[in-house]
Amino acid sequence: MDPVLARQTMVNEQLKARGIKDPRVLSAFLEVPRHRFVEEYLKYKAYDDYPLSIGFGQTISQPYMVALMTQALMPQPGHKLLEIGTGSGYQAAILSRLCRIVHSIERISSLASRARKIHDELGYFNIHIRIGDGTLGLAKEAPFDGIVVTAGAPHVPEALIAQLAEGGQLIIPVGDESLQELKRFTRTKDTVKEESLGGCRFVKLIGKNGWAK
Ligand code: SAM
Repeated sequence: MDPVLARQTMVNEQLKARGIKDPRVLSAFLEVPRHRFVEEYLKYKAYDDYPLSIGFGQTISQPYMVALMTQALMPQPGHKLLEIGTGSGYQAAILSRLCRIVHSIERISSLASRARKIHDELGYFNIHIRIGDGTLGLAKEAPFDGIVVTAGAPHVPEALIAQLAEGGQLIIPVGDESLQELKRFTRTKDTVKEESLGGCRFVKLIGKNGWAK
């Protein structure tokens, strides 16, 4: 199928139909060529309604889940955002269309290099990918207007809450190894508000403040 048509169908049937309403988020999904972020042999499935393998036991998340997390983060044109778990680079690409700068951390160096190359080819120059343990956050670039964790955590890493700006939001799947709850934490001056955004299933967040392996 023509990729432009495939993106329109994905946006109408998977995102709008399930309540993704933010027009800026929807237009980012129409713009970013998702098929560029999946392996050659899976390209024909790039716009389908499920996660796909990206190698190394990891996945590019289902389009709806990427949209739900993006909408929940409420990215604004001036925002500085942090993503934990670059994976294919697709979520970072979507965010890069909606904010000023995206920092993204990936623990598997081959995935980080592949994502960087695709971003360069597409001209998405406001994304900075680092290799490392994202459960520690990125203190030297903090505070962030928003942080999105795209792997399932056993608990909320304290460092990520600490690196949020006032009014900033952390979107993170928290739970056991097979099922998690997607949560949003909003940092205000003196408190942290917690909301549930529903159930989800992600690969494991592995690191000092995540799963051991
Ligand atoms: N956001 C990705 C995308 O758009 O393709 C999907 C990410 S995939 C579901 C989860 C990613 O998190 C994997 O690439 C995995 O290697 C990475 N990951 C897991 N633990 C991590 C950690 N502590 N720091 C950085 N990356 C981590």
